Amino acid sequence: MEIKAEEISRIIQQQLEGFKPDIDIQEIGTVMSVGDGISRVYGLEKVMYGELLEFPHGVMGLALNLEEDNVGVVLMGEVYLIKEGDQVKRTRRIMEVPAGDAMIGRVVDALGQPLDGKGPIITDRYMPVERLAPGVVDRLPVKEALQTGLKPIDGMIPIGRGQRELIIGDRQTGKTAIAIDTIINQKKSGVICIYVAIGQKNSTVAQVVKTLEDYDAMKYSIVVSATASEPAPLQYLAPYAGCAMGEYFRDTGHHVLCVYDDLSKHAAAYREISLLLRRPPGREAFPGDIFYLHSRLLERAAKLNKELGEGSLTALPIIETQAGDLSAYIPTNVISITDGQIFLETDLFHSGIRPAINVGNSVSRVGGNAQIRAMRQVAGTLRLELAQYREMAAFAQFGSDLDQTTQAQLNRGARLVEVLKQDQYKPLPIEKQVLIIFAGTQGYLDALPLRDVGLYEKQLYEFIESSHPAILQSIVEKRIIDDALRSDMHAALKEFSQKFSEDKAAAVAHDA
Ligand code: ATP
Ligand code: MG
Repeated sequence: MEIKAEEISRIIQQQLEGFKPDIDIQEIGTVMSVGDGISRVYGLEKVMYGELLEFPHGVMGLALNLEEDNVGVVLMGEVYLIKEGDQVKRTRRIMEVPAGDAMIGRVVDALGQPLDGKGPIITDRYMPVERLAPGVVDRLPVKEALQTGLKPIDGMIPIGRGQRELIIGDRQTGKTAIAIDTIINQKKSGVICIYVAIGQKNSTVAQVVKTLEDYDAMKYSIVVSATASEPAPLQYLAPYAGCAMGEYFRDTGHHVLCVYDDLSKHAAAYREISLLLRRPPGREAFPGDIFYLHSRLLERAAKLNKELGEGSLTALPIIETQAGDLSAYIPTNVISITDGQIFLETDLFHSGIRPAINVGNSVSRVGGNAQIRAMRQVAGTLRLELAQYREMAAFAQFGSDLDQTTQAQLNRGARLVEVLKQDQYKPLPIEKQVLIIFAGTQGYLDALPLRDVGLYEKQLYEFIESSHPAILQSIVEKRIIDDALRSDMHAALKEFSQKFSEDKAAAVAHDA
Protein backbone atom coordinates (compact mmCIF):
# COMPACT_ATOMS: atom_id res chain seq x y z
CA MET A 1 0.00 0.00 0.00
CA GLU A 2 1.16 3.47 -0.73
CA ILE A 3 0.76 6.35 1.67
CA LYS A 4 0.80 9.74 0.18
CA ALA A 5 3.15 12.35 1.60
CA GLU A 6 0.19 14.68 1.94
CA GLU A 7 -1.60 12.19 4.13
CA ILE A 8 1.41 11.76 6.41
CA SER A 9 1.80 15.45 6.95
CA ARG A 10 -1.93 15.68 7.74
CA ILE A 11 -1.60 12.98 10.40
CA ILE A 12 1.39 14.67 11.95
CA GLN A 13 -0.43 17.96 11.96
CA GLN A 14 -3.39 16.36 13.70
CA GLN A 15 -1.17 14.87 16.35
CA LEU A 16 0.57 18.15 16.96
CA GLU A 17 -2.71 19.97 17.44
CA GLY A 18 -3.54 17.81 20.43
CA PHE A 19 -0.09 18.18 21.92
CA LYS A 20 0.34 20.21 25.04
CA PRO A 21 3.70 20.19 26.74
CA ASP A 22 3.17 18.62 30.17
CA ILE A 23 6.62 19.44 31.41
CA ASP A 24 6.61 22.48 33.58
CA ILE A 25 10.02 24.01 33.57
CA GLN A 26 9.71 24.70 37.29
CA GLU A 27 9.26 21.02 38.01
CA ILE A 28 12.73 20.07 36.84
CA GLY A 29 15.99 21.20 38.34
CA THR A 30 19.70 20.63 37.90
CA VAL A 31 22.27 19.36 40.35
CA MET A 32 24.69 22.20 41.10
CA SER A 33 26.87 20.36 43.55
CA VAL A 34 26.92 17.05 45.32
CA GLY A 35 28.93 15.60 48.19
CA ASP A 36 28.62 14.07 51.68
CA GLY A 37 25.13 12.81 50.80
CA ILE A 38 23.95 16.36 50.23
CA SER A 39 23.09 17.97 46.94
CA ARG A 40 22.32 21.55 45.96
CA VAL A 41 19.76 21.79 43.23
CA TYR A 42 19.09 24.79 41.03
CA GLY A 43 15.75 25.61 39.43
CA LEU A 44 13.14 23.99 41.64
CA GLU A 45 11.31 27.13 42.58
CA LYS A 46 8.04 25.66 43.75
CA VAL A 47 9.41 22.76 45.77
CA MET A 48 7.89 22.17 49.26
CA TYR A 49 9.79 21.65 52.50
CA GLY A 50 10.16 17.91 53.03
CA GLU A 51 9.18 17.04 49.45
CA LEU A 52 10.54 13.91 47.85
CA LEU A 53 12.70 14.55 44.77
CA GLU A 54 13.62 12.11 42.07
CA PHE A 55 17.25 11.89 40.96
CA PRO A 56 18.63 9.61 38.23
CA HIS A 57 19.55 5.97 39.01
CA GLY A 58 16.65 5.58 41.45
CA VAL A 59 18.21 7.88 44.03
CA MET A 60 15.66 9.85 46.05
CA GLY A 61 16.17 13.12 47.85
CA LEU A 62 14.45 15.05 50.59
CA ALA A 63 14.24 18.83 50.24
CA LEU A 64 15.29 20.22 53.60
CA ASN A 65 16.73 23.63 52.87
CA LEU A 66 14.81 26.08 50.75
CA GLU A 67 17.03 28.98 49.81
CA GLU A 68 16.53 31.86 47.43
CA ASP A 69 18.39 30.44 44.47
CA ASN A 70 18.80 26.77 45.32
CA VAL A 71 17.43 23.86 47.33
CA GLY A 72 19.46 21.81 49.80
CA VAL A 73 18.60 18.13 49.44
CA VAL A 74 19.66 15.10 51.45
CA LEU A 75 20.13 12.05 49.25
CA MET A 76 19.11 8.46 49.88
CA GLY A 77 20.21 5.42 47.93
CA GLU A 78 23.28 4.99 45.75
CA VAL A 79 24.41 8.52 46.27
CA TYR A 80 27.78 8.14 44.51
CA LEU A 81 26.01 7.78 41.13
CA ILE A 82 24.82 11.38 41.22
CA LYS A 83 26.96 13.99 39.52
CA GLU A 84 26.82 17.68 38.69
CA GLY A 85 24.39 18.55 35.91
CA ASP A 86 22.01 15.63 36.58
CA GLN A 87 18.31 16.34 36.28
CA VAL A 88 16.09 16.37 39.35
CA LYS A 89 12.31 15.93 39.19
CA ARG A 90 9.71 17.08 41.65
CA THR A 91 7.27 14.43 42.86
CA ARG A 92 4.86 16.77 44.71
CA ARG A 93 4.75 14.13 47.41
CA ILE A 94 5.81 14.19 51.02
CA MET A 95 7.73 11.08 51.83
CA GLU A 96 5.60 8.07 52.71
CA VAL A 97 6.20 4.74 54.41
CA PRO A 98 4.18 1.53 54.08
CA ALA A 99 1.73 0.95 56.94
CA GLY A 100 -0.98 -1.47 57.95
CA ASP A 101 -1.28 -4.89 59.56
CA ALA A 102 1.36 -6.34 57.23
CA MET A 103 4.01 -4.32 59.12
CA ILE A 104 3.41 -6.13 62.39
CA GLY A 105 6.10 -8.63 63.31
CA ARG A 106 8.59 -7.07 60.90
CA VAL A 107 11.96 -5.38 61.22
CA VAL A 108 12.20 -2.53 58.71
CA ASP A 109 14.47 0.40 57.84
CA ALA A 110 13.52 4.06 57.98
CA LEU A 111 11.85 3.78 54.57
CA GLY A 112 9.74 0.83 55.68
CA GLN A 113 11.73 -1.70 53.65
CA PRO A 114 12.20 -5.12 55.30
CA LEU A 115 15.52 -5.92 56.96
CA ASP A 116 14.54 -9.28 58.40
CA GLY A 117 14.74 -11.41 55.26
CA LYS A 118 11.15 -12.53 55.67
CA GLY A 119 10.16 -11.46 52.17
CA PRO A 120 8.47 -8.35 50.84
CA ILE A 121 5.83 -6.50 52.83
CA ILE A 122 2.57 -6.56 50.93
CA THR A 123 0.35 -3.64 51.79
CA ASP A 124 -1.55 -0.95 49.95
CA ARG A 125 -1.49 1.50 52.85
CA TYR A 126 0.99 4.33 52.95
CA MET A 127 1.35 7.06 55.54
CA PRO A 128 3.23 10.36 55.17
CA VAL A 129 6.23 10.54 57.50
CA GLU A 130 5.53 14.16 58.36
CA ARG A 131 2.01 14.94 59.35
CA LEU A 132 0.17 17.52 61.40
CA ALA A 133 -0.45 16.41 64.97
CA PRO A 134 -4.09 16.13 66.10
CA GLY A 135 -5.39 19.48 67.34
CA VAL A 136 -6.85 20.37 70.70
CA VAL A 137 -10.46 19.51 69.84
CA ASP A 138 -9.46 16.16 68.35
CA ARG A 139 -8.16 14.96 71.67
CA LEU A 140 -9.39 13.56 74.95
CA PRO A 141 -7.58 13.76 78.25
CA VAL A 142 -5.51 10.71 79.10
CA LYS A 143 -7.70 8.25 81.01
CA GLU A 144 -6.59 4.66 80.39
CA ALA A 145 -3.42 3.25 81.91
CA LEU A 146 -0.52 1.98 79.89
CA GLN A 147 0.84 -0.62 82.29
CA THR A 148 4.59 -1.02 82.16
CA GLY A 149 4.55 -3.94 84.58
CA LEU A 150 7.31 -2.23 86.56
CA LYS A 151 6.46 -1.52 90.20
CA PRO A 152 8.15 1.88 90.63
CA ILE A 153 6.64 3.21 87.40
CA ASP A 154 3.08 1.88 87.62
CA GLY A 155 3.07 2.78 91.31
CA MET A 156 4.55 6.25 91.38
CA ILE A 157 5.09 7.48 87.81
CA PRO A 158 2.01 6.05 86.08
CA ILE A 159 1.78 6.40 82.31
CA GLY A 160 -1.52 6.91 80.49
CA ARG A 161 -2.37 6.03 76.92
CA GLY A 162 -1.68 9.03 74.70
CA GLN A 163 0.96 10.41 77.05
CA ARG A 164 4.58 11.30 76.30
CA GLU A 165 6.92 10.11 79.02
CA LEU A 166 10.65 10.63 78.70
CA ILE A 167 13.13 7.98 79.85
CA ILE A 168 16.35 9.81 80.63
CA GLY A 169 19.69 8.77 82.08
CA ASP A 170 23.38 8.21 81.43
CA ARG A 171 24.63 5.37 79.30
CA GLN A 172 24.09 1.85 80.63
CA THR A 173 21.53 2.72 83.26
CA GLY A 174 18.75 0.47 81.97
CA LYS A 175 16.87 2.90 79.72
CA THR A 176 16.26 0.42 76.93
CA ALA A 177 15.40 -2.24 79.51
CA ILE A 178 12.43 -0.21 80.77
CA ALA A 179 11.12 0.23 77.23
CA ILE A 180 11.54 -3.45 76.36
CA ASP A 181 9.87 -4.60 79.58
CA THR A 182 6.96 -2.30 78.81
CA ILE A 183 6.64 -3.82 75.34
CA ILE A 184 6.75 -7.35 76.77
CA ASN A 185 4.02 -6.36 79.23
CA GLN A 186 1.62 -5.46 76.39
CA LYS A 187 1.07 -9.11 75.48
CA LYS A 188 -2.50 -9.15 76.70
CA SER A 189 -3.34 -5.45 76.50
CA GLY A 190 -3.82 -5.28 72.72
CA VAL A 191 -1.42 -2.33 72.47
CA ILE A 192 0.64 -2.41 69.26
CA CYS A 193 4.29 -1.58 69.96
CA ILE A 194 6.79 0.15 67.70
CA TYR A 195 10.43 0.22 68.71
CA VAL A 196 12.54 2.73 66.77
CA ALA A 197 16.30 2.24 67.07
CA ILE A 198 18.28 5.34 66.08
CA GLY A 199 22.06 5.41 65.73
CA GLN A 200 22.62 2.23 67.74
CA LYS A 201 24.96 -0.62 66.96
CA ASN A 202 23.64 -3.35 64.66
CA SER A 203 24.42 -5.94 67.33
CA THR A 204 22.40 -4.06 69.98
CA VAL A 205 19.36 -3.89 67.72
CA ALA A 206 19.72 -7.57 66.85
CA GLN A 207 19.73 -8.33 70.58
CA VAL A 208 16.53 -6.33 71.10
CA VAL A 209 14.81 -8.13 68.23
CA LYS A 210 15.89 -11.47 69.63
CA THR A 211 14.58 -10.59 73.08
CA LEU A 212 11.24 -9.53 71.64
CA GLU A 213 11.06 -12.78 69.71
CA ASP A 214 12.00 -14.85 72.76
CA TYR A 215 9.22 -13.24 74.79
CA ASP A 216 6.74 -13.64 71.97
CA ALA A 217 6.40 -9.88 71.65
CA MET A 218 7.14 -9.53 67.92
CA LYS A 219 3.59 -10.74 67.28
CA TYR A 220 2.30 -7.28 68.10
CA SER A 221 5.42 -5.20 67.43
CA ILE A 222 7.29 -3.43 64.64
CA VAL A 223 11.00 -2.61 64.85
CA VAL A 224 12.24 0.35 62.80
CA SER A 225 16.00 0.40 62.65
CA ALA A 226 18.42 3.07 61.44
CA THR A 227 21.71 2.02 62.98
CA ALA A 228 24.88 4.06 63.33
CA SER A 229 26.12 2.64 60.02
CA GLU A 230 23.18 4.14 58.10
CA PRO A 231 23.52 7.62 56.60
CA ALA A 232 22.36 10.48 58.81
CA PRO A 233 19.22 11.23 56.73
CA LEU A 234 17.85 7.76 57.47
CA GLN A 235 18.57 8.15 61.17
CA TYR A 236 16.80 11.49 61.01
CA LEU A 237 13.77 9.94 59.31
CA ALA A 238 13.44 6.81 61.45
CA PRO A 239 11.32 8.18 64.35
CA TYR A 240 8.95 9.93 61.95
CA ALA A 241 8.59 6.73 59.96
CA GLY A 242 7.87 4.73 63.12
CA CYS A 243 5.38 7.35 64.26
CA ALA A 244 3.66 7.29 60.85
CA MET A 245 3.26 3.51 61.06
CA GLY A 246 1.80 3.99 64.53
CA GLU A 247 -0.57 6.70 63.35
CA TYR A 248 -2.20 4.27 60.97
CA PHE A 249 -3.25 2.18 63.96
CA ARG A 250 -4.03 5.19 66.15
CA ASP A 251 -6.37 6.54 63.48
CA THR A 252 -8.15 3.22 63.10
CA GLY A 253 -9.09 3.09 66.78
CA HIS A 254 -6.20 1.02 68.12
CA HIS A 255 -3.75 1.72 70.93
CA VAL A 256 -0.11 2.17 70.05
CA LEU A 257 3.14 2.52 71.98
CA CYS A 258 6.12 4.14 70.23
CA VAL A 259 9.61 3.96 71.73
CA TYR A 260 12.26 6.29 70.25
CA ASP A 261 15.64 4.93 71.33
CA ASP A 262 17.17 7.45 71.41
CA LEU A 263 16.53 11.09 70.56
CA SER A 264 20.03 12.24 71.58
CA LYS A 265 21.44 10.31 68.63
CA HIS A 266 18.58 11.60 66.51
CA ALA A 267 19.56 15.16 67.36
CA ALA A 268 23.17 14.36 66.50
CA ALA A 269 22.14 12.98 63.10
CA TYR A 270 20.13 16.11 62.41
CA ARG A 271 23.03 18.29 63.49
CA GLU A 272 25.24 16.46 61.02
CA ILE A 273 22.79 17.05 58.19
CA SER A 274 22.34 20.69 59.12
CA LEU A 275 26.02 21.45 59.27
CA LEU A 276 26.48 19.83 55.85
CA LEU A 277 23.63 21.98 54.58
CA ARG A 278 25.58 24.94 55.97
CA ARG A 279 22.91 26.08 58.35
CA PRO A 280 24.27 28.32 61.04
CA PRO A 281 25.06 26.31 64.19
CA GLY A 282 23.40 27.40 67.42
CA ARG A 283 23.74 26.25 71.01
CA GLU A 284 25.99 23.17 71.27
CA ALA A 285 26.24 23.40 67.46
CA PHE A 286 22.64 22.22 67.01
CA PRO A 287 20.58 24.04 64.40
CA GLY A 288 17.92 26.47 65.60
CA ASP A 289 14.98 24.26 64.72
CA ILE A 290 16.00 21.23 66.79
CA PHE A 291 13.32 21.99 69.38
CA TYR A 292 10.66 22.11 66.67
CA LEU A 293 12.06 18.87 65.27
CA HIS A 294 11.37 16.97 68.48
CA SER A 295 8.16 18.72 69.42
CA ARG A 296 6.49 18.00 66.11
CA LEU A 297 7.39 14.34 66.56
CA LEU A 298 6.15 14.06 70.13
CA GLU A 299 2.99 16.11 69.56
CA ARG A 300 1.76 13.25 67.39
CA ALA A 301 1.28 11.21 70.54
CA ALA A 302 -2.39 11.63 71.40
CA LYS A 303 -5.56 10.19 72.78
CA LEU A 304 -8.19 10.80 70.10
CA ASN A 305 -11.81 11.73 70.76
CA LYS A 306 -14.92 9.65 70.07
CA GLU A 307 -15.52 10.92 66.53
CA LEU A 308 -11.98 9.96 65.59
CA GLY A 309 -12.28 6.47 67.03
CA GLU A 310 -10.72 6.88 70.49
CA GLY A 311 -7.39 5.40 69.42
CA SER A 312 -4.19 6.46 71.15
CA LEU A 313 -0.49 6.77 70.55
CA THR A 314 1.78 6.80 73.59
CA ALA A 315 5.37 7.95 73.14
CA LEU A 316 8.35 6.86 75.22
CA PRO A 317 11.29 8.91 73.93
CA ILE A 318 14.69 8.08 75.40
CA ILE A 319 17.49 10.59 76.01
CA GLU A 320 21.04 9.78 76.99
CA THR A 321 22.63 12.33 79.32
CA GLN A 322 26.34 12.95 79.93
CA ALA A 323 27.30 12.54 83.59
CA GLY A 324 23.71 13.06 84.71
CA ASP A 325 23.57 16.55 83.22
CA LEU A 326 19.88 17.31 82.81
CA SER A 327 20.53 20.93 81.95
CA ALA A 328 22.22 20.31 78.61
CA TYR A 329 20.43 21.59 75.52
CA ILE A 330 18.69 18.47 74.17
CA PRO A 331 17.64 17.07 77.60
CA THR A 332 16.03 20.38 78.66
CA ASN A 333 14.27 20.63 75.31
CA VAL A 334 12.75 17.18 75.47
CA ILE A 335 11.90 17.46 79.17
CA SER A 336 9.83 20.52 78.35
CA ILE A 337 8.03 18.81 75.46
CA THR A 338 7.04 15.66 77.37
CA ASP A 339 4.45 15.06 80.11
CA GLY A 340 7.03 13.85 82.59
CA GLN A 341 10.29 11.96 82.90
CA ILE A 342 11.67 8.77 84.37
CA PHE A 343 15.12 9.69 85.58
CA LEU A 344 17.69 6.88 85.84
CA GLU A 345 20.94 7.16 87.79
CA THR A 346 24.25 5.39 87.48
CA ASP A 347 24.86 5.34 91.25
CA LEU A 348 21.55 3.66 91.94
CA PHE A 349 22.16 1.19 89.12
CA HIS A 350 25.54 0.18 90.53
CA SER A 351 24.28 -0.07 94.08
CA GLY A 352 21.87 -2.73 92.85
CA ILE A 353 18.69 -0.66 92.76
CA ARG A 354 17.28 -1.72 89.42
CA PRO A 355 15.31 -0.26 87.71
CA ALA A 356 17.64 2.59 88.76
CA ILE A 357 14.87 5.17 89.02
CA ASN A 358 15.48 8.33 91.01
CA VAL A 359 11.97 8.60 92.43
CA GLY A 360 12.45 12.14 93.71
CA ASN A 361 13.31 13.57 90.28
CA SER A 362 10.85 11.50 88.26
CA VAL A 363 7.32 12.59 87.57
CA SER A 364 4.30 11.84 85.42
CA ARG A 365 2.12 14.90 85.03
CA VAL A 366 -0.98 13.31 83.55
CA GLY A 367 -0.88 9.56 84.13
CA GLY A 368 -2.37 9.72 87.63
CA ASN A 369 -5.88 9.97 86.18
CA ALA A 370 -5.35 6.68 84.43
CA GLN A 371 -4.19 4.80 87.51
CA ILE A 372 -6.64 2.38 89.14
CA ARG A 373 -7.89 3.56 92.54
CA ALA A 374 -6.40 0.60 94.38
CA MET A 375 -2.91 1.51 93.19
CA ARG A 376 -3.44 5.17 94.04
CA GLN A 377 -4.45 4.12 97.55
CA VAL A 378 -1.30 2.11 98.24
CA ALA A 379 1.12 4.26 96.24
CA GLY A 380 0.21 7.47 98.03
CA THR A 381 1.67 6.14 101.25
CA LEU A 382 4.62 4.66 99.36
CA ARG A 383 5.69 7.98 97.86
CA LEU A 384 5.45 9.71 101.23
CA GLU A 385 7.40 7.07 103.13
CA LEU A 386 10.12 6.94 100.50
CA ALA A 387 10.50 10.72 100.57
CA GLN A 388 10.84 10.61 104.37
CA TYR A 389 13.32 7.78 104.07
CA ARG A 390 15.55 9.69 101.68
CA GLU A 391 15.59 12.69 103.99
CA MET A 392 16.28 10.60 107.10
CA ALA A 393 18.95 8.51 105.38
CA ALA A 394 20.83 11.66 104.43
CA PHE A 395 20.78 12.78 108.08
CA ALA A 396 21.46 9.39 109.60
CA GLN A 397 24.83 9.27 107.86
CA PHE A 398 26.09 11.85 110.37
CA GLY A 399 24.43 10.95 113.66
CA SER A 400 24.86 7.65 115.41
CA ASP A 401 22.17 7.30 118.09
CA LEU A 402 18.77 7.64 116.48
CA ASP A 403 15.47 7.65 118.25
CA GLN A 404 13.08 4.81 117.72
CA THR A 405 10.72 6.49 115.26
CA THR A 406 13.60 7.48 113.03
CA GLN A 407 14.99 3.99 113.23
CA ALA A 408 11.60 2.56 112.31
CA GLN A 409 11.27 4.94 109.36
CA LEU A 410 14.72 4.03 108.07
CA ASN A 411 13.90 0.39 108.49
CA ARG A 412 10.61 0.72 106.60
CA GLY A 413 12.18 2.81 103.83
CA ALA A 414 14.95 0.32 103.20
CA ARG A 415 12.38 -2.44 102.77
CA LEU A 416 10.27 -0.37 100.41
CA VAL A 417 13.34 0.33 98.27
CA GLU A 418 13.85 -3.41 98.20
CA VAL A 419 10.23 -4.01 97.16
CA LEU A 420 10.61 -1.66 94.20
CA LYS A 421 13.51 -3.62 92.74
CA GLN A 422 12.58 -5.76 89.80
CA ASP A 423 14.45 -8.09 87.48
CA GLN A 424 14.47 -7.56 83.75
CA TYR A 425 11.87 -9.32 81.56
CA LYS A 426 9.56 -9.95 84.52
CA PRO A 427 6.73 -7.48 84.24
CA LEU A 428 4.16 -7.84 87.02
CA PRO A 429 0.40 -7.57 86.62
CA ILE A 430 -1.07 -4.61 88.47
CA GLU A 431 -2.89 -6.68 91.12
CA LYS A 432 0.36 -8.27 92.30
CA GLN A 433 2.01 -4.87 92.38
CA VAL A 434 -0.80 -3.55 94.57
CA LEU A 435 -0.49 -6.53 96.89
CA ILE A 436 3.27 -6.29 97.50
CA ILE A 437 3.23 -2.50 97.89
CA PHE A 438 0.35 -2.90 100.35
CA ALA A 439 2.39 -5.47 102.27
CA GLY A 440 5.36 -3.09 102.36
CA THR A 441 3.50 0.03 103.43
CA GLN A 442 1.47 -1.85 106.06
CA GLY A 443 4.63 -3.09 107.73
CA TYR A 444 4.54 -6.78 106.90
CA LEU A 445 8.15 -6.64 105.75
CA ASP A 446 9.53 -4.66 108.70
CA ALA A 447 10.69 -7.69 110.64
CA LEU A 448 12.39 -9.37 107.67
CA PRO A 449 16.11 -9.15 107.04
CA LEU A 450 16.65 -7.07 103.86
CA ARG A 451 18.01 -9.98 101.86
CA ASP A 452 14.81 -11.97 102.43
CA VAL A 453 12.47 -9.38 100.92
CA GLY A 454 12.89 -10.74 97.40
CA LEU A 455 12.19 -14.29 98.48
CA TYR A 456 9.18 -13.17 100.53
CA GLU A 457 7.75 -11.43 97.48
CA LYS A 458 8.22 -14.44 95.24
CA GLN A 459 6.66 -16.87 97.69
CA LEU A 460 3.85 -14.47 98.54
CA TYR A 461 2.61 -14.54 94.94
CA GLU A 462 2.72 -18.34 94.88
CA PHE A 463 0.87 -18.52 98.19
CA ILE A 464 -1.85 -16.06 97.21
CA GLU A 465 -2.33 -17.67 93.81
CA SER A 466 -2.80 -21.09 95.32
CA SER A 467 -4.65 -20.26 98.57
CA HIS A 468 -6.39 -16.88 98.05
CA PRO A 469 -6.79 -16.25 94.32
CA ALA A 470 -10.01 -14.33 95.03
CA ILE A 471 -7.97 -11.45 96.45
CA LEU A 472 -6.10 -10.86 93.21
CA GLN A 473 -9.32 -11.14 91.27
CA SER A 474 -11.08 -8.63 93.53
CA ILE A 475 -8.33 -6.06 93.02
CA VAL A 476 -8.78 -6.41 89.26
CA GLU A 477 -12.57 -6.28 89.37
CA LYS A 478 -13.24 -3.73 92.10
CA ARG A 479 -10.25 -1.55 91.15
CA ILE A 480 -10.43 -0.14 94.67
CA ILE A 481 -9.48 -1.48 98.07
CA ASP A 482 -12.70 -1.31 100.06
CA ASP A 483 -13.09 -2.39 103.69
CA ALA A 484 -13.93 -6.00 102.86
CA LEU A 485 -10.97 -6.38 100.53
CA ARG A 486 -8.66 -4.63 102.96
CA SER A 487 -9.47 -7.05 105.78
CA ASP A 488 -9.09 -10.02 103.39
CA MET A 489 -5.67 -8.73 102.38
CA HIS A 490 -4.61 -8.25 105.99
CA ALA A 491 -5.78 -11.75 106.91
CA ALA A 492 -3.95 -13.38 104.00
CA LEU A 493 -0.76 -11.39 104.63
CA LYS A 494 -0.80 -12.31 108.33
CA GLU A 495 -1.23 -15.95 107.48
CA PHE A 496 1.58 -15.88 104.94
CA SER A 497 4.00 -13.89 107.09
CA GLN A 498 3.49 -16.42 109.88
CA LYS A 499 4.14 -19.29 107.48
CA PHE A 500 7.16 -17.55 105.96
CA SER A 501 8.89 -17.01 109.32
CA GLU A 502 8.13 -20.57 110.42
CA ASP A 503 9.57 -21.97 107.18
CA LYS A 504 12.60 -19.77 107.67
CA ALA A 505 13.10 -20.94 111.24
CA ALA A 506 12.74 -24.56 110.16
CA ALA A 507 15.33 -24.05 107.43
CA VAL A 508 17.77 -22.51 109.90
CA ALA A 509 17.20 -25.38 112.34
CA HIS A 510 17.76 -27.85 109.53
CA ASP A 511 21.04 -26.20 108.54
CA ALA A 512 22.27 -26.23 112.12
P1 ATP B 1 22.80 2.30 76.58
O1 ATP B 1 23.16 3.65 77.08
O2 ATP B 1 24.00 1.50 76.20
O3 ATP B 1 21.72 2.30 75.55
P2 ATP B 1 20.78 1.60 78.47
O4 ATP B 1 20.70 2.75 79.40
O5 ATP B 1 19.76 1.48 77.42
O6 ATP B 1 22.23 1.51 77.86
P3 ATP B 1 20.29 -1.15 79.05
O7 ATP B 1 20.96 -1.63 77.83
O8 ATP B 1 18.83 -1.21 79.09
O9 ATP B 1 20.80 0.31 79.40
O10 ATP B 1 20.82 -1.91 80.34
C1 ATP B 1 22.19 -1.96 80.66
C2 ATP B 1 22.51 -3.28 81.31
O11 ATP B 1 21.82 -3.40 82.54
C3 ATP B 1 22.07 -4.46 80.47
O12 ATP B 1 23.06 -5.45 80.53
C4 ATP B 1 20.80 -4.94 81.14
O13 ATP B 1 20.65 -6.33 80.99
C5 ATP B 1 21.04 -4.57 82.59
N1 ATP B 1 19.76 -4.26 83.28
C6 ATP B 1 18.89 -3.31 82.95
N2 ATP B 1 17.82 -3.30 83.78
C7 ATP B 1 18.01 -4.28 84.67
C8 ATP B 1 17.26 -4.79 85.79
N3 ATP B 1 16.09 -4.29 86.15
N4 ATP B 1 17.79 -5.82 86.47
C9 ATP B 1 18.97 -6.34 86.12
N5 ATP B 1 19.72 -5.92 85.08
C10 ATP B 1 19.27 -4.90 84.36
MG1 MG C 1 19.87 1.54 75.31
